[in-house]
Amino acid sequence: MSNGYKRYNGEHIDVFFDSEKCAHAAKCVKGLPGVFDIKKKPWINVDGAAAEEISKVIDQCPSGALQYIRKDSEQ
Ligand code: SF4
Repeated sequence: MSNGYKRYNGEHIDVFFDSEKCAHAAKCVKGLPGVFDIKKKPWINVDGAAAEEISKVIDQCPSGALQYIRKDSEQ
């Protein structure tokens, strides 16, 4: 993981975000508003949804600004 990423540790998933890479396409915010909320601090609530749902939304991030590591074994 390169240096610009901030890490958000969750119970089942860790999320990484690099604001410099973000293209503001809002896929994350629209996809899971309970997890990605720019009005909150921290703006990513890693335990706000199932790891499966979070990883699906992150897979749609067009810029690569969001990355994740799954810690659970359930798929
Ligand atoms: S989906 Fe990716 S590029 Fe779009 S706002 Fe979220 S982090 Fe930024």
